[in-house]
Amino acid sequence: MSEVLLEVKNLKKYFNTPNGVLHAVDDVTFTLERGKTLGVVGESGCGKSTTGRAILRLHEPTSGQVIFEGKDITKASSQEMRHLRSQMQIIFQDPFASLNPRKTVSEIIGEPLRLYKVHKNKQEQQNHVLELMELVGLSERLVNTYPHELDGGRRQRIGIARALAMNPKFIVCDEPVSALDVSIQAQILNLLKKLQKELGLTYIFITHDLSVVNYFSDEIMVMYLGKVVEHATAEQLFAHPTHPYTKALLSAIPVPRLGAKKDRILLKGEITSPINPKPGCRFAPRCEYAQPCCFEQTPGLKENEKGHFVACHFCEKF
Ligand code: SF4
Repeated sequence: MSEVLLEVKNLKKYFNTPNGVLHAVDDVTFTLERGKTLGVVGESGCGKSTTGRAILRLHEPTSGQVIFEGKDITKASSQEMRHLRSQMQIIFQDPFASLNPRKTVSEIIGEPLRLYKVHKNKQEQQNHVLELMELVGLSERLVNTYPHELDGGRRQRIGIARALAMNPKFIVCDEPVSALDVSIQAQILNLLKKLQKELGLTYIFITHDLSVVNYFSDEIMVMYLGKVVEHATAEQLFAHPTHPYTKALLSAIPVPRLGAKKDRILLKGEITSPINPKPGCRFAPRCEYAQPCCFEQTPGLKENEKGHFVACHFCEKF
């Protein structure tokens, strides 16, 4: 039977700026079952990375609940968070920027083991580091090399090995392949899939690339300016994209067949400011179906068909 690992309820993350309050994440709610992947997609600035970080409390949430294995971690003490952090990890977009250039592969991967005092002595820790390297496909001979001596794919494997060191249950993968060459992207995606199967991991997979997220996710959540506009299984979303923004995103995916054509929906109109946003649909200035009510009333997520949620006043007409 499926079991919920993570429940996020009405999560908000606002930032104070000189121009007003930026609503980076605004009322995000979802559940995620153990062993599954939730893909989170949207353009740059839609709040997808901030959502991932607020869930891990790398950004302290403004309000809302993050319930991990039945416990609301937004109320956890720093002592409890220390334990929870070992169970909830993150893999960053730019492996080079996230790795300390003055440390060797062994030191980087072994750092969480050292901080959490997992092993009695250095030899035990080194053996564990070598096991992790093997798990992520890094050759043992690289153990004393530095990040700058390695290519992007190997650097991302170091980031993955470090994230796995404490045997986590849940990982936020924040654009883990977008800084890599296309030829290496598939290798890293396959590795993440293999690890999920072998270790029973649960992922949030954040990306701006819908073709990647389809390959990787069980469910997909589409975000626009801090709001969830559509949430469905990957199958439903690709078969029946409903929100006008999702349709535009899908239309931009290149068709791999020679000579095949697809009509791309080009979005026009101004992007609403996420600073002190007024009530109304945030997509309205760019939506070809917008009606006067769209500029006044904020649409909530409605279940359009079983398991398929859309935030649009007129979704049943599309
Ligand atoms: Fe477009 Fe209105 Fe639907 Fe927003 S609520 S997506 S503006 S039709």
